[in-house]
Amino acid sequence: MLNEFDIIRTCFDQPGLAAQPGDVVRQGIGDDCALLRVPPGKELAFSMDTLVEGVHFPAMAEPDDLGWRALAVNLSDLAAAGATPLVFTLGLTLPSAQEAWLQGFAGGLREAAGRYGCALVGGDLTRGPLTITIQVHGLVDEGKAISRAGARPGDSLYVSGSIGGAALGLQLLENDSDDFTAEEKAALLAAFWRPQPRVALGAAVAGLVTAGIDISDGLLADLAHICERSRCGAALRLDDVPFASTVPKHTREYYLQTGDDYELLLTVSGKRDKEFLAAAGACGVPVTRIGEITTGSGVDCLAGDGSKVIVTGRGYQHFHA
Ligand code: ADP
Ligand code: MG
Repeated sequence: MLNEFDIIRTCFDQPGLAAQPGDVVRQGIGDDCALLRVPPGKELAFSMDTLVEGVHFPAMAEPDDLGWRALAVNLSDLAAAGATPLVFTLGLTLPSAQEAWLQGFAGGLREAAGRYGCALVGGDLTRGPLTITIQVHGLVDEGKAISRAGARPGDSLYVSGSIGGAALGLQLLENDSDDFTAEEKAALLAAFWRPQPRVALGAAVAGLVTAGIDISDGLLADLAHICERSRCGAALRLDDVPFASTVPKHTREYYLQTGDDYELLLTVSGKRDKEFLAAAGACGVPVTRIGEITTGSGVDCLAGDGSKVIVTGRGYQHFHA
């Protein structure tokens, strides 16, 4: 068994994971506080997410997947704000200090930290039920952070990537299925365990989009957050939503209500549509126009013929005007 200081030294304060002091990070792991100098013209964006075993992830989680996922879901909030990742802190509560588990967990964190350029600057370690809290910090040009509140009627509504894969992956974890090939299963499990936050896209379109949010709770719920905060409505064209190819067509509406994809939902004013598509194209991220912002309130789901579809927990009904 490792003691607290051994764990920090051997697992967390290691090259590729821990921040090295420089112009922006003045001090990292090892002192009472980490120190950060925010460069002129930048704002500090920060956000925190907690993952509890049995609530946010199943108990059989592989430690490296868990490390990746814990950091990635936090980075998704920075992406949604258009901020570039900088550093993170880690609050880790563990039932016991198993070195193999800790090394695996730190390895997954290191992979995500390296991939997205976000280094560890400090944290805390306690004993208790497995709980991972991460606070990420990023930088964004002053006044350019993307918020949920700026959408205006007439704006186009875009989503990055595809929807539903992570929820299918979680279902596979709970009940194996013969409906998918081995490759499809691997991709679905990766969609759940290894989300790829849209950091480059968020940073590229900050100052260009009118509003944005990352999809953690489900497309419909997160779009409703934009509508509330922007005091507007939205029309969502169901036939245009880019569901993962493995989502069965008759269950599509269900996957509007599942989360964990960590894609970005972005609103763009008509005159900047082309610029937006060019910026997304330059990041190599597919974006799909799935509707528009409207006057009024709440989200209307529309079928191909323009009729409203009431999406419920169990399916949908058509209303023909
Ligand atoms: P204090 O007693 O002042 O709170 P600690 O003894 O808890 O400090 O931590 C010592 C140093 O190790 C601090 O710099 C802290 O940020 C860092 N640290 C503690 N836990 C972690 C962790 N899980 N990951 C990274 N750094 C950590
Ligand atoms: Mg102290």
